[in-house]
Amino acid sequence: MKLKYILYTTILLFLLTFSTINAKDICDNIFLDVNSGEENCKHIEYLLYQEVIPNKKCFFPQKPARRGEVAHMIVNAFNFNIGYRENSFTDIGEDYEYYQEILTLNQLEILNGYSDGSFKPYRPITRGEFMKILANSLREKKWYLYKESTINLETVFSDVPQDYCFREYISNLYSIKLPNEERIFRGFSDGTFKPDKNISKSSIAKIITNTMKYAGLFNLSCQDFYCSDRYSTNLHLLGLEDMYKEQIDLENLILNLGYSIEKRPILAHVFGEGCETYLFIGGIHGSEYNSSNLMKQWIKEVKGNQGIWNNKRIIIIPESNPDGLVKHKRLNSNNVDLNRNFDADWQQVTFLGNQVFSKGGGSYPFSEPETQVLRDFVIATEPSLIISYHSAAGFSIPNDNKLAYNIALEYSEYSGYRFTGDDELKGFDYIITGSLGNWAASLDIPAIVVELSSTHNNEFDKNKDAMWQIVNR
Ligand SMILES: [Zn+2]
Repeated sequence: MKLKYILYTTILLFLLTFSTINAKDICDNIFLDVNSGEENCKHIEYLLYQEVIPNKKCFFPQKPARRGEVAHMIVNAFNFNIGYRENSFTDIGEDYEYYQEILTLNQLEILNGYSDGSFKPYRPITRGEFMKILANSLREKKWYLYKESTINLETVFSDVPQDYCFREYISNLYSIKLPNEERIFRGFSDGTFKPDKNISKSSIAKIITNTMKYAGLFNLSCQDFYCSDRYSTNLHLLGLEDMYKEQIDLENLILNLGYSIEKRPILAHVFGEGCETYLFIGGIHGSEYNSSNLMKQWIKEVKGNQGIWNNKRIIIIPESNPDGLVKHKRLNSNNVDLNRNFDADWQQVTFLGNQVFSKGGGSYPFSEPETQVLRDFVIATEPSLIISYHSAAGFSIPNDNKLAYNIALEYSEYSGYRFTGDDELKGFDYIITGSLGNWAASLDIPAIVVELSSTHNNEFDKNKDAMWQIVNR
């Protein structure tokens, strides 16, 4: 009896000590971009503490939540056991970090793929789609059994019509009340729900926390969910050091992102601090080497003017197609046009004026190591803007994104390149498939293409003011 008592006491003491230390560690280690200005700060910190969201340095609260990371959050929030038979998706493999979570939710019929067999883990999720996933998860856990919602949704939201595909989920979830009479979610102050708008990571954090509260899982034991502004000394790499462990030149803040087919490194130069990244890319077409030279000049310029921009990180990849650049060739060593190999409107046959490349798009989206490198880096850094340089059409071109449209317009004003955002085919006379810009648009990332006007001059003087203007906007 006595022995049992001592044993229990020891275990209890151990647990108390352990959990106290653990809680403090996690609370002190919050995201650098989640500060007092973030409305759902406490929800985000709570989910970090509960390990519903992974502990990376940047959370990107206002960026769209992506399908893969939502799968990860849902599995952890609802405590689903990982379990699945086989992977039938064409575009995710075991190397993708949330592979198991996606397959688990798919098996439970909570989350589906696309009709072409893909899953598209980086695609943003809309507010309506998220409601379906959440409702399905509650159903699976039997935490919320469907009853006919008594809510007259018209009186709540003006933009969710009777025949709207996710209406049932929105209606059912809205009818749930928390103990304090709050709802799991609210719409916008203008009385809309905006079901087709991409949902931000911040909103998801709040809705998931509220759902856990509803399900009785909300158990605040971390005392320190205070939302203060944090500062740290070496902010340049912000988690990238974990991803590129042995590939960092720490002194010069150069990352080796990976290798081309012929094993040439693809380097990124990192400047400035903060989670907000402006990503500059040159030389994706090897024959357009002046775009690379412009990036090298831009690296010198930024290096010489450190600290004149606030809380922004400028990352420059001067040679994204190093094999092509060495050979003065547009394509990579597999004869693939890298700017046609991204996963957006992808096709194998590509065009360049009258020229037809039967396999210009590669054998499938992201079949090339160079585009894989760019994809993974873009996903990790969630850039606020991508600017990719080409030559020699003399254009400034936005992708299909409102912010990009304004930025491309501004770039045009400062540089003198023609703005082609309103033109049919955006100034080109052939169809462009599988481009970096189209792919970024599908992820809700603003991107612009700048086409220099000559084939050899780096045109730095023409671009310099525009570049600074964009970075400091
Ligand atoms: Zn080009």
